Amino acid sequence: MSVYDLVLSGGRLVDGTGNPWYYADLGIAAGRVAHIALPGTLRSARTVDAAGRCVAPGFIDIHTHSDLTILCNRRAESAVRQGATTHLLGNCGMSPAPVVDGRLAEIQHFWDPMATLPGVSWEWRTFGEYLDALQDGGLGINVASLAGHAALRLAVMGFEDRPPAPAELHQMQSLLAEAMQAGAFGLSTGLVYPPGCFAATDEIVALARVAARYHGFYASHIRGERETILDAVAEAIDIGRQAGLPVQISHNAPKWGAPHDATANLRLVDEARARGQDVTVDNDVHTDLGPALIDALPQPFAERGVAEVVDLLRDPAARRQIRDEIVADRLPAFGPVGLLKHGQWQRITLMHAPRTPAASGQTIAALAQARGQDPFDTYFDLIVENDGAADAIFDYIDEANIRLLLKHPAVMICSDGAVSATDGPLADPPSYAPCSFGEFPGVLERYTRDDPVLPLEEAIRKMTSFPAQRLGLHDRGVLRPGAWADVVVFDLDRVHDRATNLFPHADPFHNFPHQYPEGIDTVLVNGVVVVDQGEHTGELPGVVLRRP
Ligand SMILES: [Zn+2]
Repeated sequence: MSVYDLVLSGGRLVDGTGNPWYYADLGIAAGRVAHIALPGTLRSARTVDAAGRCVAPGFIDIHTHSDLTILCNRRAESAVRQGATTHLLGNCGMSPAPVVDGRLAEIQHFWDPMATLPGVSWEWRTFGEYLDALQDGGLGINVASLAGHAALRLAVMGFEDRPPAPAELHQMQSLLAEAMQAGAFGLSTGLVYPPGCFAATDEIVALARVAARYHGFYASHIRGERETILDAVAEAIDIGRQAGLPVQISHNAPKWGAPHDATANLRLVDEARARGQDVTVDNDVHTDLGPALIDALPQPFAERGVAEVVDLLRDPAARRQIRDEIVADRLPAFGPVGLLKHGQWQRITLMHAPRTPAASGQTIAALAQARGQDPFDTYFDLIVENDGAADAIFDYIDEANIRLLLKHPAVMICSDGAVSATDGPLADPPSYAPCSFGEFPGVLERYTRDDPVLPLEEAIRKMTSFPAQRLGLHDRGVLRPGAWADVVVFDLDRVHDRATNLFPHADPFHNFPHQYPEGIDTVLVNGVVVVDQGEHTGELPGVVLRRP
């Protein structure tokens, strides 16, 4: 009789450390890697023949926005089918907890349209109650979470554009302390989004000191990723220095309008590390994002309803003012706005436009030319004509910067996506989020196999042991005896991302609606098979990880 629950036999073991692959059998028992042995030597009632395929630690996605979507799809379909076995939630200042009674409507508005997904009950108030709600219904993958600064600010001050009073800051600190005690891994900020963008550096330092007390880290969607990117990287590093905690700079590719390539921000990271500061970076490999057109309007509009904003855009004077605000970029807005500011209308491709379907698949530049209009007017008209419901693909990142970032040893790979699915409420209608379906297979296919930027082992390190190290999860992200058996088996020859659409876009988009990738054959979470021959088994062995 075998001591193993499962043996993965004869694969190329890429163990997560960056070491070259080797042939081995992996014996799994009680959820963990029990033994690694010469190929063909371990026996079990259940054996997966991994010959000709790679066996690697499950991917740890350190930057996701699955906070609410995973409550709607607990199987975590789009995540686990691409080999991700752990998601870090609570990024960019956004966590669904804490919730303070009386502020729930504002918090739900902040999370719109995800706030009303089936399965999202909003029954939690504290951060700990939210983590319990995640665990209670079972999960297809493991999750961990940061506490979001925007959540703390919304709970105490709503969307107000002013510094907190001392009592308000104290209340935010208490809520953060409670979250850290419940198991948050640190504090995140989103300094281009309301209400995060209304916070000055000293407010964030005061909060980061609380996270530091609990040995958390500081993750930031920095204050501008275009014209102000170097100041924003420097601010994030300085917050870490003042508060005494490690810094993770989120999805740090320069966006359209940045004055330098990624070498410039990476130099600041290298200099900080040379001074002895623990600063690391993550990035995803997509050049695009698919927000609603209305999302690119200046931040003060964020708290208003869609109908009100659409009305404003009908008024020529208000429209002129909004246009001036976009160009002035007083509070640096999120990346895609750089395309409006710099007139890169050929890089904005309309996706869903329910009232103007003929416009779908065309760029704003082409539509403006056909209408004989200034592109800003076309952009605003499309919002009005579609009652705010139009969205587009914004290609706002230079692929050359993705390559630069991939090569840097302090940069790990993240998706910046969220749990999604090809059916059910998350696909009704399907949203444009290639990273949610094709991040890790895309890296393997395009950047290690077809046009290599990285050796396979280094790419795997950046998806496994490196993010695990940032999280302090030393028993995940590596394949060695005693580690949790989060494992992915894939065929590098067959790996194929069916979600990414390279720029410039063809109409119709060939990988939209997104499909699950090919070549990711078996995925184990805590020793349980969740993906078997490329199909989800329905098992929910994932756990909520709490800061060690
Ligand atoms: Zn972000």
